[in-house]
Amino acid sequence: MKWTWVFLVCSLLASGYGQTAADSRKEVDSVYPAARDFYIDLHQNPELSSHETQTAAKLAARFRGFGYDVMEGVGGTGVVAILKNGTGPTVMLRTELDALPVEEKTGLPYASKVHAKDDSGRDVPVMHACGHDLHMAALVATAAIMAHNKESWHGTLMLIGQPAEETISGAKRMIADGLFTRFPKPAVGVALHVGNDLPAGEVGITPGVYNTNADSLRITIYGKGGHGSAPQTTIDPIVIAARTILALQTIVSREVKPGEMAVVTVGYIRAGTKNNIIPDQAELGLTVRTYDADVRKQILVAITRVVKAEALAGGAQQEPLIEHYESTDSVYNDPGLAARLRAPLEAALGKGNVLATEPITPSEDYAFFIEQGVPSLYMRLGGADPQKYAEGKKTGVLLPSNHSSLFAPDVDPALRTGIAAEVAVLRYLLNPASN
Ligand SMILES: [Zn+2]
Ligand SMILES: [Zn+2]
Repeated sequence: MKWTWVFLVCSLLASGYGQTAADSRKEVDSVYPAARDFYIDLHQNPELSSHETQTAAKLAARFRGFGYDVMEGVGGTGVVAILKNGTGPTVMLRTELDALPVEEKTGLPYASKVHAKDDSGRDVPVMHACGHDLHMAALVATAAIMAHNKESWHGTLMLIGQPAEETISGAKRMIADGLFTRFPKPAVGVALHVGNDLPAGEVGITPGVYNTNADSLRITIYGKGGHGSAPQTTIDPIVIAARTILALQTIVSREVKPGEMAVVTVGYIRAGTKNNIIPDQAELGLTVRTYDADVRKQILVAITRVVKAEALAGGAQQEPLIEHYESTDSVYNDPGLAARLRAPLEAALGKGNVLATEPITPSEDYAFFIEQGVPSLYMRLGGADPQKYAEGKKTGVLLPSNHSSLFAPDVDPALRTGIAAEVAVLRYLLNPASN
């Protein structure tokens, strides 16, 4: 694939903040064919979390080609690309690298047919079902524009390709590997995520809490196995598990203040092998989602109380095991930053295309960067075909969400908008005159 750039168009454009939507369109046009080719390549060659070696190498090669200092293997397969351009702040832009174990059913001519071994050695289909391919293509195109228009900004641009977002482990691993000590610590961070909950061409800004705290729990209830025909000789963990699941449902409905966002989902129950055997134990897998830190604490305490009490009520002789094996905090968008970045985004995308949006319920490990002291803006990028989005609004039939085997963003407007938004925000943050 040839990465062609129309330098002339880029270099004629003046400083970012003064840019009109027409200037921005022209600039994006100059890199768009290469960006779209790169998107198709990434989409057809997805890699699972922590295995993004080819993906990382492709990004690194392009960054080097544009003149960035590139470090690979940061926190596993992570990539860091730095472009220094005089005095000014350091600004970080982040993309994820990983895809998901999903079989693509979009029917697109460039649909993924890839299979790979997952961490347990199982053969699984792989698909960019979360749109991280679009984030990478946008970031690389942005990298090209910034590298070829150095007169329009000053400071240090830090681009990161983060592995293993889907397993909520990549951000932590990059930080542990010295992301903010071996490299300049950013004054500000920026990221975006594509989704079908906004039409392509639009960007959403949510000041403050952007998404949820997520907690994953594994609960093992210990009973006493035996013959299915002689329950009096056993302590049935399946019955205790069933009661526990129903009791857990009353936490949100009876204990949390109405109006507070809270979800307790039991996503799986595992117990037993045969109809006439009462097993020794039962396992439940839970996900808990909240916006507020106090509500989060309240729910986790309540889960422990309910699980222990139900085991006691069922006569279990051993306390249940509650493992809190995975968690991430909600992403907090710096409200001042969100307010300041609205004007450059509106200038680049058109006023009506920058929306004030509500927080969303999925989670993200970007929060770990913010907790290291990097105030950030995490934007929503529209991915839905605008016509289908409008039809869906009328009929109530929603477009497939991220992680669906049918997830297919409307690439042309979404990718163009992603590039234009990133360039506008970076130029603004890296241009002291506009701050
Ligand atoms: Zn995802
Ligand atoms: Zn994602």
